[in-house]
Amino acid sequence: MNSLTPAGSRTHSQALQLRAERFFPGGVNSPVRAFGAVGGAPPFVERALGACLTDADGNRYIDYFGSWGPMILGHAFPPVVEAIQRAARNSASFGASTAAEADLAERVVACYPAIEKLRFVSSGTEATMSAIRLARAVTGRKIIVKFEGCYHGHADGLLVKAGSGVATFGIPGSAGVPEEIARLTLALPYNDLAAVETAFAAHPGAIAAVILEPVVGNAGCIPPAAGYLAGLRALTQKEGALLIADEVMTGFRVALGGALELYGVDADLVTLGKIVGGGLPVGVFGGKRRFMDLLAPLGPVYQAGTLSGNPLAMAAGIATLSYLQEHAAEVYPRLEATAKSVFEGVAAEAARAGVTLTLNRVGSMGTWFFTAGPVTNYAQAAQSDTAAFGRFHRAMLEQGVWLPPSQFEAAFLSTAHGEAEIAATIAAAREAFKDLG
Ligand SMILES: *Cc1c(COP(=O)(O)O)cnc(C)c1O
Repeated sequence: MNSLTPAGSRTHSQALQLRAERFFPGGVNSPVRAFGAVGGAPPFVERALGACLTDADGNRYIDYFGSWGPMILGHAFPPVVEAIQRAARNSASFGASTAAEADLAERVVACYPAIEKLRFVSSGTEATMSAIRLARAVTGRKIIVKFEGCYHGHADGLLVKAGSGVATFGIPGSAGVPEEIARLTLALPYNDLAAVETAFAAHPGAIAAVILEPVVGNAGCIPPAAGYLAGLRALTQKEGALLIADEVMTGFRVALGGALELYGVDADLVTLGKIVGGGLPVGVFGGKRRFMDLLAPLGPVYQAGTLSGNPLAMAAGIATLSYLQEHAAEVYPRLEATAKSVFEGVAAEAARAGVTLTLNRVGSMGTWFFTAGPVTNYAQAAQSDTAAFGRFHRAMLEQGVWLPPSQFEAAFLSTAHGEAEIAATIAAAREAFKDLG
């Protein structure tokens, strides 16, 4: 367990950062790993176990980003490690079918009634990109509706008013995306059904799909308003458009069957990632059989992947999902209880110190927004005092608590987070807020 000793020197990390900057733009292979939004230099991770990360200088941190979502069972969870080792002995990849693909698919389908058939891909980006192509093929329509602050990976048409790093670094739409493509994406405010009705009225018979994070994580955590998801389901059905639930973050996290189970809604297509790969690169898109059977080689919609269904990734996914399925009755109540303690405990420390916060949380994902709130959409999230968040982030890191380095990213707990981690985190927050009140 991580004692609350302040992080020491980071000279090794600083040297590694300088070396990385020679090779990688910004020194990183994914922009959200940089600390530009919060200041300070990112520690380089050497290893991790349970809820705890160890950096290149031997400092230890309680981890609240969990590889951005996948590590729901904590780091180096023995069944996952053993499954990967066992699979690796039989070779890392074949480019031919294996039984493990159907084994994992069976588990995905058991958790997700909305998924009758599916395809494995290697990332969430591939999953949403492929789901959009399929939705356009199904409907013969071009326009996609998404919501401001939702992030669906970095495919061209989905970077319009996107969340995650796009929001963190204040990029309204990515350079390099042709206007002709961006024009086919309508970005509407989240939690506003009337805006979606207006869009359908303005583009009759032209909207192929509505894609959303059924609980937003990539603008910070924003839950759906009561009736919002059911309203979108009804509206898309009435208008002949597909509803795509992007559960890359929420799948197997907010419930075993994700947000669709938690809120009792159906979708035409579902995208998954993160947890389904147990820390290895896996994405899923799936849904109604009649739609999925339009994919090659059965149908005319092309989609492929050299490493899709990779045996090591399948093994990690099977080990993770089988544990979650067999222990769901303990895992999800435990995550709810530990997350409630730490998110509300930190918020209480803020209140005591006179720091204004709005806490949003759904199960084991949540965000402390540095604004009076409420935060029900991206525009409200963007009211947050990001400089104050940056000071909070740095103060927490110095005390050995590593939060996601952006106001616009949800924090996650794993089953490895326990009483000791929670107490240490709340104590660190008490110190951090002393300088912010
Ligand atoms: C992370 C994420 C993606 C992208 O997944 P990658 O594996 O990073 O490509 C897509 N949608 C949502 C909701 C995500 O959280």
